[in-house]
Amino acid sequence: MVKAHFSKRIGKFTGDRRVLVFLILASLLIAGRVWLAEHPEHDPWAPLDLRDPVGWATEAKLQSLREDVVECRGVLDRSDVVHEILEPAGEGACRREDRTVLTTLPLSPNSPPVTCSASIALLLWEREAVAPLAEEIFGSEIQRIEHLGAYSCRRLYGRDSGPWSEHATANAIDIAGFVLADGTRISVLNDWSGEGYKAQFLRRVRDDACNSFSTVLSPDYNAAHADHFHLDMSPRWRSVCR
Ligand SMILES: [Zn+2]
Repeated sequence: MVKAHFSKRIGKFTGDRRVLVFLILASLLIAGRVWLAEHPEHDPWAPLDLRDPVGWATEAKLQSLREDVVECRGVLDRSDVVHEILEPAGEGACRREDRTVLTTLPLSPNSPPVTCSASIALLLWEREAVAPLAEEIFGSEIQRIEHLGAYSCRRLYGRDSGPWSEHATANAIDIAGFVLADGTRISVLNDWSGEGYKAQFLRRVRDDACNSFSTVLSPDYNAAHADHFHLDMSPRWRSVCR
């Protein structure tokens, strides 16, 4: 009886209809907030925790760390990521205030100090792209990610003038290849061309690197990148992904 009375009143009085619309919107809002609380990876206001899955808001949060070292270190602490913060080093344009080492990344020949945001981008790329694609395409784990270096005190392309390279502050790393658990080696130089599994793997890890890094340069970009992927966390907005 109460229900019938309620419906009848809605039909007659616009005031009641507004209350109903308000109640529906309010409950949608509450449901949305409950859902976001359960899915912080999609919530732009939730603090980034690297243990959460990657969601709609992850990339924007990662990009916002590029110029906020304090918050970036907070993310590593909050996410229980094993890491080392090294003392600042270098002079002038090659001064590195932010030197972070993620000892658990399977980088070879070593895990070089990079900026905090680059270290997080590497971690997410390895976890979300490199490892699952190695499993999907080769049915194997990744044993090593081979790099050619992160820090190099130089301008772009080693020129005498012009802008400094992101390598000058170790805000970049050059990746040359990957080694699977069974010893199979996938090299950017030797395996980029063609349609084989290794070429497919390289193209897909290159494409997915663009979800984490600001700049991704591969052999598709120019001949200077024929033997490596250049990955950096330049504060420019998504400059190049090619
Ligand atoms: Zn590079």
